[in-house]
Amino acid sequence: MAKRPIIALPDPVLRKVSAPIERVDDDLRRLMDDMLETMYAAPGVGLAAIQVGIPRRVVVLDVAPEGEGPRPLCLVNPEIVALGSEMRLHEEGCLSIPEVLVEIERPATLTVRYLDRDGEPRELAAEGLLATVLQHEINHLDGKLIIDFLSSLKRDMVVRKFKKQARTTEAL
Ligand SMILES: [Zn+2]
Repeated sequence: MAKRPIIALPDPVLRKVSAPIERVDDDLRRLMDDMLETMYAAPGVGLAAIQVGIPRRVVVLDVAPEGEGPRPLCLVNPEIVALGSEMRLHEEGCLSIPEVLVEIERPATLTVRYLDRDGEPRELAAEGLLATVLQHEINHLDGKLIIDFLSSLKRDMVVRKFKKQARTTEAL
């Protein structure tokens, strides 16, 4: 396993729509292992492949409470097949947008269909933090970020801040 660098705003790669995986093989399992290691080291509760520069529909996550983990979950080609009508509010962060928190209201329950690490089709009914994280990560696969839930004014402020930071880093 190897930790991979996490891509951050304003890198345009984060806006790419990820392509479906055709075959679950050892190369893909290696990528998922790397993604888990990267996520745990960050630390974070979820990571999409696009965040390490790979535009493929793969996400890893672990929402086990501290002291109860790890409970890693790998989802290939995840697809939301049902959303509940009740909503849940959560202050979300993103490993690609450090130090920014956005309060987002999303459906509190959902059902997701995906392929597991062995390529077996599975269905998962989720609620609470897991439902939130799943929606956040699946958004990444479609190039959607938490800042898209902000007003355009606030979004521009965040993007400007990250562009400025990127310029400063390059200058060093
Ligand atoms: Zn994120």
